[in-house]
Amino acid sequence: MNKKTVKDINLRNQRILLRVDFNVPLKNGIIQDDIRIRAALPTIQYILEQQPKSLVLMSHLGDPKKDIQKAKEKAEKDGKPFDENAFSDGKHKMKPVVERLSSLLQKPVLLAPAAIGAETKAMVDQLHNGEILMLENTRFHKEETSKDAAEREKMAKELAQYGDLFVNDAFGTAHRAHASTETVAHFLPAVAGFLMEKELAYLSKATTNPVKPYVAILGGAKISGKIDVIQNLMDKVDALLVGGGMMFTFFKAQGMEIGKSLLEEDKIDLAKKILDEADAKKIKLLLPVDCIAAEKFENDSPTKIVNVTAIPSDMVGMDIGPETIALFSKEITAAKTVVWNGPMGVFEMPKFAGGTNAVARALAEATKLGATTVVGGGDSASAIAQAGLEKEVSHVSTGGGASLEFLEGKILPGVAALNDK
Ligand code: ADP
Ligand code: MG
Repeated sequence: MNKKTVKDINLRNQRILLRVDFNVPLKNGIIQDDIRIRAALPTIQYILEQQPKSLVLMSHLGDPKKDIQKAKEKAEKDGKPFDENAFSDGKHKMKPVVERLSSLLQKPVLLAPAAIGAETKAMVDQLHNGEILMLENTRFHKEETSKDAAEREKMAKELAQYGDLFVNDAFGTAHRAHASTETVAHFLPAVAGFLMEKELAYLSKATTNPVKPYVAILGGAKISGKIDVIQNLMDKVDALLVGGGMMFTFFKAQGMEIGKSLLEEDKIDLAKKILDEADAKKIKLLLPVDCIAAEKFENDSPTKIVNVTAIPSDMVGMDIGPETIALFSKEITAAKTVVWNGPMGVFEMPKFAGGTNAVARALAEATKLGATTVVGGGDSASAIAQAGLEKEVSHVSTGGGASLEFLEGKILPGVAALNDK
């Protein structure tokens, strides 16, 4: 990596401003999964060991603007009064996050009333002896995500006053040019944390000069969300395996019948184009040969294993079939670099998680045989955790959207803004 990290600068007696991605799932103020908090601990602990003057942490948490809008629309529909300032659904306040962080660190962590403003500034100015302060949700301020650069700058300049150095460990938000991720990096010396470094190291290993054979597996719901990934990886891989809901649009493009399976009508031409391109360039693009079809989009629906050329008109394709599992597993276990994005089937329903679990097992097997294996995508990360195999692969990315954009070959603005080595 050509960006400076916390290891490249002197942190002692400095005021550190650290952007983390603590955007954890919350239900009624209770954290459902703290993996994102744990993933930032190595950076936080390292910074504290260097005896800084203070450590100010910031993160967004959920999308308050969107949730307020939703609640407002609902109130209007129900003819009820709505007070935006009194709105809370227990999904945006940092208190539970601060409590969890404090218990993981076994150290007190203070909480500021807001991300910016006089009260917060006063709190920051009193920090000493390596005290830790977490700012309230950065997305409570519209400047954070504003499209207007001047607005973002205004907020970023306030944030920059809280530190002498900026550390960005928020890989999960690195694809967004927001005030607390990208803009602030222009006002302070800016370096990467360990999580950021690790994410970039693994994802680059899998995209630039990967050890061959290089196999990519793409699945998930729709082609539309993955087009750029398919196109960017196509020229690099030895084999591209396609499963998940998107396979049916490819089948349609080949003139096959897909019953009631997921179809993106407006992407049929694009699917055709991708298939032609793969043909012309002699790229090994493998589509499933069989699938599990169900009568209904339900876990307890009766099912049938069918050849993909014979999907009954009244059934819906839910998962890849056993022959496909064997075919895909063989490709994966023979690879030396594997990238996986997108479940093979409707893995949320146990009956249709078989294909996804089998691919997860094949990745674990490949890893044992010395391959570098990387999993990206929010649902894919849950799927491999659900299979209990997240420790058996080289790397599971903590950033869904960010890892996708990286695989698309895009430059992540939050990374680009950091100081070069
Ligand atoms: P990721 O978050 O890993 O990038 P996606 O969001 O693209 O993955 O896709 C995940 C979703 O795809 C899951 O909710 C899963 O149920 C859905 N999916 C997979 N296969 C099918 C299918 N055959 N029909 C409908 N949905 C599917
Ligand atoms: Mg997803």
